[in-house]
Amino acid sequence: MSVEQILLNKGRNVVTIEPTKTLAQAAELLSSWKIGAVIVADALQPVSGIISERDIVRAISNKGASALLEPVSMHMTRQVVTCTKRADIPRIMEIMTTSRIRHVPVVEEGTLIGIISIGDVVKHRLAEIEAETQAIKEYIASA
Ligand code: AMP
Repeated sequence: MSVEQILLNKGRNVVTIEPTKTLAQAAELLSSWKIGAVIVADALQPVSGIISERDIVRAISNKGASALLEPVSMHMTRQVVTCTKRADIPRIMEIMTTSRIRHVPVVEEGTLIGIISIGDVVKHRLAEIEAETQAIKEYIASA
């Protein structure tokens, strides 16, 4: 299964935030959308960074609650690992494991067209395993 097929099922909506917004505003977005990371975008760049719940926890641990008033740009990761819609799920699992990340934005020709989370990967891998198990059971029953 490819990233494109996952996006067909889950849709292409990506929650973004401007780099000048505060960590508190980023935390509000994560909470209201029930997600773990948002893409940081500005007028010039569709993906200028990514900020995840881990970045917010780290900022509060280092600086205390006052970190929540600081801009997202101070705490985001700037070197964002992305994929294209043609990437397959084993490749995404490899990227997530080796880079220790749980979110991979999907970019085509400079345009952000979706995001794959570790939850999406697990959900689709489980569906594949269930289909394989069913096929094996049917094969055994027909033998
Ligand atoms: P996560 O596991 O996605 O919550 O993120 C863990 C750390 O990796 C945080 O510092 C994120 O900013 C960073 N991160 C998450 N996704 C990516 C990505 N696609 N590319 C680069 N860094 C990322």
